[in-house]
Amino acid sequence: MFAVHLLAFHFTKLKEDQIKKVDRYLYHMRLSDDVLLDVMARFQAEMVKGLGRDTNPTATVKMLPSFVRSLPDGSEKGDFLAVDLGGSQFRAHQVKVFDDGKQSSQLESKFYPTPKEVIQGNGAELFDYVADCLLDFMETKNLKHKKLPLGFTFSFPCKQTKLEEDIDIDVLALVNDTVGTMMTCGYDDQRCEVGLIIGTGTNACYMEEMRHIDLVEGDEGRMCINTEWGAFGDDGALDDLRTEFDRELDLGSLNPGKQLFEKMISSLYLGELVRLILLKMTKEGLLFSGKVSTALLTKGKIEMKHVSAMEKYKEGLSNTKEILTELNLFPSEEDCIAVQHVCTIVSFRSANLCAATLAAILTRLRENKKLLRMRTTVGIDGGLYKTHPQYAKRLHKVVRRLVPNCDVRFLLSVSGSGKGAAMVTAVAYRLAAQRKQIDAALAPFLLSLETLREVKNKMRTEVEYGLKRETQASATVKMLPTYVCGTPDGTEKGKFLALDLGGTNFRVLLVKIRSGRRRSVQMYNKIFAIPLEIMQGTGEELFDHIVQCIADFLEYMGIKGARLPLGFTFSFPCRQASIDKGTLVGWTKGFKATDCEGEDVVDMLREAIRRRNEFDLDIVAVVNDTVGTMMTCGYEDPNCEIGLIAGTGSNVCYMEDMKNIEIVEGNEGKMCINTEWGGFGDNGCIDNIRTQYDKEVDEGSLNPGKQRYEKMTSGMYLGEIVRQILIDLTKQGLLFRGQISESLRKRGIFETKFLSQIESDRLALLQVRRILQQLGLDSTCEDSIIVKEVCGAVSKRAAQLCGAGLAAIVEKKRENRGVEHLQITVGVDGTLYKLHPHFSRVLRETVKELAPQCDVTFMLSEDGSGKGAALITAVAKRLHNVGQK
Ligand code: ADP
Ligand code: MG
Repeated sequence: MFAVHLLAFHFTKLKEDQIKKVDRYLYHMRLSDDVLLDVMARFQAEMVKGLGRDTNPTATVKMLPSFVRSLPDGSEKGDFLAVDLGGSQFRAHQVKVFDDGKQSSQLESKFYPTPKEVIQGNGAELFDYVADCLLDFMETKNLKHKKLPLGFTFSFPCKQTKLEEDIDIDVLALVNDTVGTMMTCGYDDQRCEVGLIIGTGTNACYMEEMRHIDLVEGDEGRMCINTEWGAFGDDGALDDLRTEFDRELDLGSLNPGKQLFEKMISSLYLGELVRLILLKMTKEGLLFSGKVSTALLTKGKIEMKHVSAMEKYKEGLSNTKEILTELNLFPSEEDCIAVQHVCTIVSFRSANLCAATLAAILTRLRENKKLLRMRTTVGIDGGLYKTHPQYAKRLHKVVRRLVPNCDVRFLLSVSGSGKGAAMVTAVAYRLAAQRKQIDAALAPFLLSLETLREVKNKMRTEVEYGLKRETQASATVKMLPTYVCGTPDGTEKGKFLALDLGGTNFRVLLVKIRSGRRRSVQMYNKIFAIPLEIMQGTGEELFDHIVQCIADFLEYMGIKGARLPLGFTFSFPCRQASIDKGTLVGWTKGFKATDCEGEDVVDMLREAIRRRNEFDLDIVAVVNDTVGTMMTCGYEDPNCEIGLIAGTGSNVCYMEDMKNIEIVEGNEGKMCINTEWGGFGDNGCIDNIRTQYDKEVDEGSLNPGKQRYEKMTSGMYLGEIVRQILIDLTKQGLLFRGQISESLRKRGIFETKFLSQIESDRLALLQVRRILQQLGLDSTCEDSIIVKEVCGAVSKRAAQLCGAGLAAIVEKKRENRGVEHLQITVGVDGTLYKLHPHFSRVLRETVKELAPQCDVTFMLSEDGSGKGAALITAVAKRLHNVGQK
């Protein structure tokens, strides 16, 4: 017993000595975590350099854009061919991808030898050979009559410019093997966004944010970057870590000074590194009693497979002994232990370095996503990783240590780069088909200048109809006289009440106007909710509710006793016979209270006040919000003769010459006309530009067939149009993996404010995704791009249509004045105009384009509905008093 123990002890001691000896000798190859973190930081810097426009030309890590923008989403289908060139053999594959929800695929491959004369011959010969093999393959598979899309894995650095030429000819995808690996793994695990090869060569690719890729136009979405990290260190960046063996190996290689990182890592070189180390150690008398064999002197005698075999620790030293004996080295037990350890250090260093650069990529991915922790998957292929007994385990462990805040899954690519090439082709095919469908869905939203001009002309025609006595009754643009005949002159003063009904909020306001040198307007207001059941209940209930709110406000302000003059901003079409009489023509926007249409809203308000019998008010004016807006801006700028609202609804008013208003007596001076242009198109005159989505929104609205122009241009409907498009695209399988979620079915879920948020240029796609998530829409990165595109198409059309309408109005004003050039100010209100990131700009541009002879200034109105109503009341009061005297 004792003897056995002693023997074991002796052996352990022997082993320890040998290991210590090698450790000391190869001290420089054993990399601590600190060094690895440093390598990681260096590689991060290299990536940035490779991505930058100015730094790329001199960068060693080339960071080549692959033009692969999308990972498989499981909806790919079809038959694909793939050719795989770049590994040790040339392969042709046929891949069938099934769209069966189970993400299954079938792969049939055939191997072809690549004769030396072909590899070292010229390019034409090589490609002729490839074509011959492909032909043979298609014959064997009986595919000759078919025209299948072909993916081509070509695992050498390639500068690509475009992935697919045209969907009509077959897509030809040129795919790097790293990309192929990522795509193959991505088909099984949608989290996969890194592809890694550790074999004959080493390289990695990953999905980078487009906005960081200077070499490719566009900022949206992601694109796979083939790092070509094998060249890391070619500028000397790793010289402090390279040993004399690395240098010797490099000098003896086919491409000295190139691919220095790869030469420390890939299986093509590890055996040779081991050989060089053993040779030197032997020469120094540290191994094999100092006896060098011819085999040990021969380049390439130790290969990766030997290293792998020697490191099979479970098999003890037998493999090592056998291999060394074959090299005529007559190894002792000690020699075997030492050599085994040399192999371990060399291959471990490879795993360590690879882990450091991979960690750099993972960190970059995590930072791109602005995540503190990230879950991701790395797809891996390559002989060294797959066949070396310890390599994978070591790599995983070191990566996890270097980036503790990444939960990494390592997924082995089973069917290799051939399937990957097919997958890239399949995805490109899917994307091209999808693009076509999306373009088709959005095409009707792209309005040519010609069409917009037509819209302007039609608007002009309808405006004229509305002004003419004979046609006015049936006109869709009603052109309602407002009996507001003048703008404020600054002498207005006093305390006024104002009501604002017709928008999102119902408000009661107290407005104090001062004149003269202390000219100012002070306002106090209170917002009241109008519950849906009241908006859509009876008229009596609605007006009782309004009066209740007024009572609350008077109480709150402590002015219940004062009989103040009141201006009633009532933003619905009203036919007026005087400034304080307004018959509701029809509800618009969200209102639908019964027994109101055809009634005088001022009477209804008076009656409700009488019913309550608590206070009295002097109702002086009913005011449309457009008029209030114009008046508010007119108070500052006398040139303001147009009021525009782009909020919940869409409408315009402007000062028209009395002589043109046939339904009002008198030809002197001007009067403000509330166009109610929202009804434009109700006679079908713009049906040619209405889309199926507009029709769906219309049919689901409270007033089908009415307000067709408003339904294409205003805040109440834009989100709803977007929702209809999203539903359609989802039905076509182009979005949300073809699943229409419960929330997407909900009318009104997609509010117009989300358009503003999503279209904001400062917003990264990730934030778009978050907004969609809040709406219960689980989107991928690609989904978010599409949703943003849809929002853009809808809001742009809205702004352009609105601009075309406004161009008609300013042109009319110009003709009225009989001038070549018109200078005019438009007072604008409405949250869509004020908060949407592009609406106002596109609107202004359209007006400029369609009415080039008009110089239009846009002036934002501050609370036109309140201030404007008070100003109108003040003016009316003054005129009234003048009339009475
Ligand atoms: P109203 O027109 O109802 O008097 P607003 O001018 O404030 O009031 O417009 C409100 C409408 O503006 C909402 O119904 C909504 O459709 C739209 N909206 C709200 N927030 C935004 C936003 N951030 N961007 C664009 N539109 C918005
Ligand atoms: Mg408003």
